[in-house]
Amino acid sequence: MDRVILIKYGELSTKKANRNFFINTLYNNIKEKLNVFAIKIYKDRARMTIQFRDEDLDKIKKIVDRIFGIHKYHIAYVVNSNVDEIKKKLLEVVKLEKFITFKIETKRSDKSFPIHSQDFNKVLGGLLLKNVNNVSVDVHNPDLWIKVEIREKETYIYFNNYDGAGGYPVGTQSKGMLMLSGGIDSPVAGYLAMKRGVVIEAVYFEAIPHTSLEAREKVISLCKKLVTYTNFINLHIVNFTPIQEEIYKKCPEDYCITIMRRMMYRIMEKIANKYKGNIIINGESIGQVASQTLTSMKVINSVTNVPVIRPLACLDKLEIIDLARKIDTYETSILPYEDCCTVFVPKHPAINPKLEKAIDAESKFNYEELIELTIENLNTIKIDSSESKKFEDLL
Ligand code: ATP
Ligand code: MG
Repeated sequence: MDRVILIKYGELSTKKANRNFFINTLYNNIKEKLNVFAIKIYKDRARMTIQFRDEDLDKIKKIVDRIFGIHKYHIAYVVNSNVDEIKKKLLEVVKLEKFITFKIETKRSDKSFPIHSQDFNKVLGGLLLKNVNNVSVDVHNPDLWIKVEIREKETYIYFNNYDGAGGYPVGTQSKGMLMLSGGIDSPVAGYLAMKRGVVIEAVYFEAIPHTSLEAREKVISLCKKLVTYTNFINLHIVNFTPIQEEIYKKCPEDYCITIMRRMMYRIMEKIANKYKGNIIINGESIGQVASQTLTSMKVINSVTNVPVIRPLACLDKLEIIDLARKIDTYETSILPYEDCCTVFVPKHPAINPKLEKAIDAESKFNYEELIELTIENLNTIKIDSSESKKFEDLL
């Protein structure tokens, strides 16, 4: 049938100077995501439309629901912007709907169209009252809210209204490095960063044999969930075992977590430099655990000048869990495999660590050399979402 997905950009429209860049990025993302379907995409400064084959609509809709930069969309009938053709089409398509009351709302962005919006509402309303049995107008609470958008060449008729994923298209910002553990928080942090347009690469610290291969598989599964919001994600796996063992041999027990986190940030900075990431993103939330008090954050963060973005900093755990459920990572995150942070948790980690004490403890071992080794031995996996078959498995 002659329908299209009619996309409204939302927040994009406020970014005047960058408008074309935003629209082109969105266009390319949609094209890439839907590349296995027989579709045609058209774009202009106000709207984008996707022509599709009827049988693909359900699959395409699921994918479109996860493309950032789409504020709202409609499945719309398309007809030439010609009075008679619009009338004919409207009669044809309302007959597929069940309703008693209706309202018509015409928007005429093509001012050369011969009839004003208000008048055209009356024309079309009269047409329905005359030709469809037992229907009446209700402008406040209609069963069927009929929108007619008249543009220069084409007119769109639709009755539905779907929320898009919102945010900015991935790729309208540069790259950030996401610290991805197997927990609940960090996948949500990654999702929120991508929603602002950030391209992410993920970094997972593992400490085999203290952590299992199942724990790694869990992180890969989480990455596969996240990749449904973008085109691909590079996942870097850090062998953290030698550093972690040294820390637990040489440092005071209550400072082990503080120092472990400082080491993680140092490694993150090096990985960010190597792969041209501009920021570090993680799932820290103020006060959640000892290493996330403001004092701890200050001492830990002081090892790097790379900005650390914490999308969850001010959210409650329950709010984070709601988001994790929404993006379908929660069930994977609560699988019971140990993470390198949980394996070595001391009984009484420092809640208000002192910077001098952390520096003093670190001076007991040659961590720079160990850090270099982890960078040399990074294991990188590319998680791709481009093949539709695979993509369906991921949803
Ligand atoms: P999450 O916070 O994701 O639920 P968690 O509770 O195990 O996992 P925290 O101890 O709260 O992790 O650590 C705070 C943040 O540090 C995480 O959200 C994540 O961004 C990062 N992080 C912790 N452990 C790791 C790890 N093993 N690999 C990569 N990043 C990690
Ligand atoms: Mg956490």
